[in-house]
Amino acid sequence: MRILYLLGLCFGAALVLLFLGRAGRLGRQKAAVLALAWAAAGGLGLTAAVLPSGSLYGPAVTHLEAPGPAASGGSAQLALTFDDGPYEPFTRELLDVLREKQVRATFFLVASQAERHPDLVRRIVADGHTVGVHAWRHRDFLKLDDAEKRADLTRARAVLERLTGRPVRYWRPPHGFRDPAAMQTARDLGLTVVTWSTAPRDWTGIAAGDIVRRVVKEAEPGAIVLLHDGDSPYYRASRQPTVDAAGPLIDTLR
Ligand SMILES: [Zn+2]
Repeated sequence: MRILYLLGLCFGAALVLLFLGRAGRLGRQKAAVLALAWAAAGGLGLTAAVLPSGSLYGPAVTHLEAPGPAASGGSAQLALTFDDGPYEPFTRELLDVLREKQVRATFFLVASQAERHPDLVRRIVADGHTVGVHAWRHRDFLKLDDAEKRADLTRARAVLERLTGRPVRYWRPPHGFRDPAAMQTARDLGLTVVTWSTAPRDWTGIAAGDIVRRVVKEAEPGAIVLLHDGDSPYYRASRQPTVDAAGPLIDTLR
């Protein structure tokens, strides 16, 4: 059962109760209280599915557990994460910036795209970055049935483990959307769900300077920052502003 149907039922029940109250088939006050309860249940279920920090369906990591000096000797006050790649030429250019700045990041890859660019995947691993799974194809998991969710995530992780030669332990759901079935699949695959605490909305085409300003303004110690080196599913948009923001952002945060 897709959770969107269940949530729709909640809001539908609230409307029916309000109608019954107005029609005099149910006490108005009683109808209003029941309608409010159903609407609240629907609202709670929906926010748990779409909010990065929602934990009703299972835990999602939004911050680093122990911000501070990393084992490598570098600073790990916050985590830069990049979604939807690999995507030429932006992933390659971003990797150049990260290498120059000696910063390691996490890339949540779209596995079907990774299959087209195995060289970029190898470069991500060789440069010491972490690869997480985003999806096989970039779809809204709330709109998939349970079997489709399981098939997508299972295939995506298997492909990324083959391409990287390493276990893949982290999952960022497309759009951050997840429901109980998706969370159960992640648990079965041993994946930790990682969302974010800071999203400068770089996918909206804002300038590099605005990306830097938004992150610097919002990011507290331990923040997980959501950025995009890819443009799934169509791969049309430029990610140049994100690439251009990476260097100044790192310099400012240091
Ligand atoms: Zn995405």
